[in-house]
Amino acid sequence: MLGPVLLAASRSDRMRRLVSRTPLTRPVVDRFVAGDALSGALDAVQALTADGIDVTLDHLGEDITDAAQARANRDAYLALLDALGHKGLGKRAEVSVKLSAFGQSLPGGHDLASAGARRVAEAAAEIGTTVTLDMEDHTTVDSTLAILADLRRDFPSTGAVLQAYLFRTEDDARALAVEGSRVRLVKGAYKEPASVAYQGKDDVDLAYARALGILMAGDGYPMIGSHDPRMIELALQLADKHDRTPDTYEFQMLYGIRDGEQHRLAAEGHRIRAYVPYGADWYGYFMRRLAERPANLAFFLRSFTTR
Ligand code: FAD
Repeated sequence: MLGPVLLAASRSDRMRRLVSRTPLTRPVVDRFVAGDALSGALDAVQALTADGIDVTLDHLGEDITDAAQARANRDAYLALLDALGHKGLGKRAEVSVKLSAFGQSLPGGHDLASAGARRVAEAAAEIGTTVTLDMEDHTTVDSTLAILADLRRDFPSTGAVLQAYLFRTEDDARALAVEGSRVRLVKGAYKEPASVAYQGKDDVDLAYARALGILMAGDGYPMIGSHDPRMIELALQLADKHDRTPDTYEFQMLYGIRDGEQHRLAAEGHRIRAYVPYGADWYGYFMRRLAERPANLAFFLRSFTTR
């Protein structure tokens, strides 16, 4: 019930101002976001990698209104990659990019976002790491996959994200289950119409299982982006069935969610990567996390009553 309301609120400027200006929000945000500044992100990378958990970093900045902001977001990634390079973290940390932060939804945005992503992919390659293109609402999928295809010609390890809730995803998974292709499979975090996406949780879970089957049977490098114990178990069964060794796929979870499970998987020798967001523009990301899980919302509301 609350999920759709919170997803709608994640797009509301009024709610953004209200939630962002409430001082009590901060401790809850800190559970999911590694600080406003680059230094917080680097501290998180060092702590996680010391525990055997790899990282993908997301500089938050998805809702922009002009090309100058797109360039500023691109430059924030360049500064991040530079810092990762200086600390010798290129082997353990990659970056996740939302093309909307690079201007995808502005007029002429496809080319602007494509150029920004290319510059970041070059900088990533220089320090021995790579980029994954996050997937946003369904209107952006064609543009994002076209930019992916273009980038993969020069940077073959550029990763994609597929959202199981979209009807089209099984076809996209077949097309991307090829040698060298890195694909993160997630359930999907946006409010999508019934014309393009499954609406019920069971239908989404079944769709996830089908797309996972396609990716694990294929020749690519699946990245299982889920906290769901059933999907993790299914991935392990499929790895066994298709004789995949642990270096041919990885698990991914969000920073601050199921930390114990992240450490358990690492300790058991599985590849696991935490998705670490940081930056001042945390509102949309934070609201999507609240929408996913009532327990997260309860945690948020409790912070108002327990002080
Ligand atoms: P859910 O259906 O939310 O939860 C299933 C089960 O997982 C729960 O019943 C519970 O057992 C367990 N669980 C979930 N959360 C918790 C918790 N907080 N504590 C304890 N147990 C929990 N979405 C996009 O649309 N685009 C993206 O680019 C994108 N990138 C992502 C990157 C990563 C690494 C991850 C992990 C997710 C990403 N998402 C993205 C979000 C994704 O689409 C889902 O909204 C989100 O992962 C929740 O789905 P779930 O698979 O974890 O399972």
